[in-house]
Amino acid sequence: MKNYTERDKKHLWHPLTQHGLNPDHLPLVSARGSYLYDDRGKAYIDGISSWYTCMYGHCNPEITSRVKQQLDQLDQVVFSGFTHPPAIELSEKLVEILPEGINKIFFSDNGSTSVDVAIKMALQYHFNRGEKRNKIVALENAFHGDTFGAMSVSGLSVYNGPFEDFLLEIERIPVPDDLNMDALEMRFKQILEDQDVAAFIFEPLVQGAAAMHMYPAAHLDVLMELARSHGALTIADEVMTGFGKTGRNFASDYLKEGPDIICLSKSLTAGVAPMALTCCSQNVFGAFYDKEVSKGFFHGHTYSANPLACAAALAGMDLLATETIQDSIQRIAERHLQFEAEVKKHPMVKSTRSLGVIFALDLDIETERYGNLRDRLYRFFMDQGVFLRPLGNTIYLLPPFTIAEQELTLLYASILNCLEMLSHE
Ligand SMILES: *Cc1c(COP(=O)(O)O)cnc(C)c1O
Repeated sequence: MKNYTERDKKHLWHPLTQHGLNPDHLPLVSARGSYLYDDRGKAYIDGISSWYTCMYGHCNPEITSRVKQQLDQLDQVVFSGFTHPPAIELSEKLVEILPEGINKIFFSDNGSTSVDVAIKMALQYHFNRGEKRNKIVALENAFHGDTFGAMSVSGLSVYNGPFEDFLLEIERIPVPDDLNMDALEMRFKQILEDQDVAAFIFEPLVQGAAAMHMYPAAHLDVLMELARSHGALTIADEVMTGFGKTGRNFASDYLKEGPDIICLSKSLTAGVAPMALTCCSQNVFGAFYDKEVSKGFFHGHTYSANPLACAAALAGMDLLATETIQDSIQRIAERHLQFEAEVKKHPMVKSTRSLGVIFALDLDIETERYGNLRDRLYRFFMDQGVFLRPLGNTIYLLPPFTIAEQELTLLYASILNCLEMLSHE
């Protein structure tokens, strides 16, 4: 009994989906390397690494073998009162590569919870020190996740209506650019002076959900320095940018001074298991360290530091450190730059940007004229055997580090085909 698409509709409620519009969900039955395979055997190149998770390719035996080993050793334990080698090793490996000063690792289950944890940490940090600071400053068009704290700091969600009365107190500032920076600096300073700001949260250098919008590290340095000098903690949400995607291990590595707190998830476990980390400095940890129980951080998830997820993360980090993967990241970055130089001359292209393995282009078209552009682009690419998720009029790539030269060529070719198709309308 196959017929997955029809059976799916019976009991399943999919994320980010209006089922009333009667969408079909394509059944995928296997994946390997850069490819996804549907139930009829059609292959699709995974051009966005399944939402930036499977950066070492799907079902990579170097990852899965380590998880299988762990599965026969220790499957799951309570992480309160117990500890275990995979979590310990992971913390040691992470602290080696995390920005200077970040040396405490707190586990949770997904990107949103890593942000909620960061926000709670920041609020309690001040509370424990006897200061009442209630405001969080976040960037416009930010995306930090879908739980209440993460949703509060996100500026993108147009579907937050039902929850607006229940969100945290947020002050939102524009994303810095060369034109607005002077005014922004003044405005941010004013906010920091007038209000009790607990923390400043941002996606460093690349706002993923805002169609891979990029902004310069130097401007972020200025804003972070302002926050620091007013006693607010800085929170870098590297759930998307973490682990090599920007060309360095972390986007924060481009900054002059690291943040106080870093959120990690997505490719942390190489796409094998859900897990997230909120990593912080000794200074943050120190505000919780006391003989008084109530000053502790009373937040915990049942599956915190699941050993299988830790094993996957360790395998992923070992791969990331190899010359093969590091060379690959540089190779993809260079090919993106070459493609960018070529494609930006196309009359259908308004602008392009790239950083590390991230490439994005904006189409020079009025979306209204093209009907449901996003769905049409999505279907065009899928027909060509390429899985991409265009956002508005932006097409972007974030391929696995392990993608082969000819597979990358196919991704670029499909984009060129798409531009041709659009220019003949
Ligand atoms: C995806 C994402 C999140 C949310 O992570 P989930 O695992 O989907 O909850 C938060 N922040 C950023 C920057 C993300 O890209």
